[in-house]
Amino acid sequence: MTTNALISVACPHCNAEILQRAKLVRAGGQAWCPDCESLFELDPGIEAMRRTLSEARAARRDRKQRITEMRARWSDPVPAPPTRPMLMSDVLRTLDDLLARMDTLSQRERG
Ligand SMILES: [Zn+2]
Repeated sequence: MTTNALISVACPHCNAEILQRAKLVRAGGQAWCPDCESLFELDPGIEAMRRTLSEARAARRDRKQRITEMRARWSDPVPAPPTRPMLMSDVLRTLDDLLARMDTLSQRERG
C-alpha cells in the first residue's frame, strides 16, 4: 500500500504524461516537463488540468482517510493491568499472617 499516489499530468506544451506526486499537484503549482524541458503552471483554467487537479485532490483525500484509519487502529486502547504499588504495610501484613500461621502450626505440633 502506497500512501504517495502518483498523478498523471499532461504537459500543456507537448502533451507528454508526467507522473507527479499527488501532494505536489495543486492549483497554481508548477510541474517540470522533461520531454520539452519546460516549466508549466498547473492552471485550473484549463479543462484537462482541472480534471488532473481534482484527481490529485481525491488522491490526497484518500491518503488522509487511510492515515486516519491507520491511526485509529493503532491507538486502540490497550487495557493497563490493574496494578497498584505494593506498600510496606502490605508486606508487613503478609509477614504477620505468615508468622501467625507458623505459630499455629508449631502450637499444634507441641500440642
Ligand atoms: Zn512537455
